[in-house]
Amino acid sequence: MLVWTEINLNAILYNLRQIRSLVEPKGAKVLAVIKDNAYSHGALEVAKAIENDNIMMFGVATVEEAIQLRQGGIKKPILVLCCILPEQAESVIDYDLVQTVCDLNICQTLSQLAKEIGKVAKVHIKVDTGMGRIGVHYDRAVELVKQVNQIPNIIIEGIYTHFSSSDIDQDYTLLQIDRFNSVLSCLKKDGIYIPIRHSASSSAIINYPSSYYDMVRPGIALYGYLPFASDKIQLRPALSFKTRIVYIKEVPPGTSISYGRTYVTDKTTRVATLAVGYGQGYNRKLSNRAEVIIRGKRARIIGTICMDQCLCDITHIPEASLGDEVVLIGTQGDQTITADELARKIGTISYEVLCGINANVKRIYNSDDI
Ligand SMILES: *Cc1c(COP(=O)(O)O)cnc(C)c1O
Repeated sequence: MLVWTEINLNAILYNLRQIRSLVEPKGAKVLAVIKDNAYSHGALEVAKAIENDNIMMFGVATVEEAIQLRQGGIKKPILVLCCILPEQAESVIDYDLVQTVCDLNICQTLSQLAKEIGKVAKVHIKVDTGMGRIGVHYDRAVELVKQVNQIPNIIIEGIYTHFSSSDIDQDYTLLQIDRFNSVLSCLKKDGIYIPIRHSASSSAIINYPSSYYDMVRPGIALYGYLPFASDKIQLRPALSFKTRIVYIKEVPPGTSISYGRTYVTDKTTRVATLAVGYGQGYNRKLSNRAEVIIRGKRARIIGTICMDQCLCDITHIPEASLGDEVVLIGTQGDQTITADELARKIGTISYEVLCGINANVKRIYNSDDI
């Protein structure tokens, strides 16, 4: 195999337990966010690894993702975090999913379909307290809850909101928490009880214990990353991304390397060809920027990254040879490259680097000690 990822399920379990140790003393449970194939780690494998570790439910982006989990044997509740269109409502009922809703229309569709087959649709009301994405405006949330409560075969199991800046903006996050709290206190005043209230994703889990309520929704932290450095929690990156050296040559000074001649050697250079490119999710913007690890030493990517190949300067690693394992993300010897390191180099976030790893790249699972 020439390109693969290795996923340490024990690291994910470790991260989950770190999160649990923060939130459980405050009475909150965990919804594990495994959308987008668990941030590339493999949704079904991750779900199976953690489903018996005292989590309350799983969160996915789409009905299709949820169906795959059900077909893979996952029995735990699954919350679909995005809106659906009416044509997907039937699947929500058939597969016993919990659906995020933001308006009355979709609730009526769910209610009607559930009634036809004698089931009850479960929904969580999404409240927009300032994210500006999906959600009923916080001023109209109580009214929507009351309307939904009047239609049959549907129950409001949860109510939640999402923060836009809990990693960087305390004033704004506290304002969002206030708005959510005022919705909750109006409901309470009107004698309406909704069992699962939630708001915190990874950043808020670290920064805002007042946002835990009944449940928290970690995603990135499960996989070992956070949007910022923090000493409040220890996390272990779970994914390594690896390839191999498939060709080695020595070239004289003045040799241009790869498409567009963006790199020209200034010395006699030993160049290794690696069997990975942007087609597998090694971002082309990393051209001439990223480093990799070979034989425990860092080496620079030189020239433009191609679709399935890229080049690296191994002049300073004379022992490097054909077939050597090359670490793009992960640890070898005393060197480590994180998704954060790559993200910083190309102006994005660890989330996008991880999600960018193509689904066609083989995932190898282990439960190594961490
Ligand atoms: C993706 C997502 C999360 C998880 O966010 P992280 O920053 O990865 O922890 C939580 N809630 C919702 C609604 C999301 O879309």
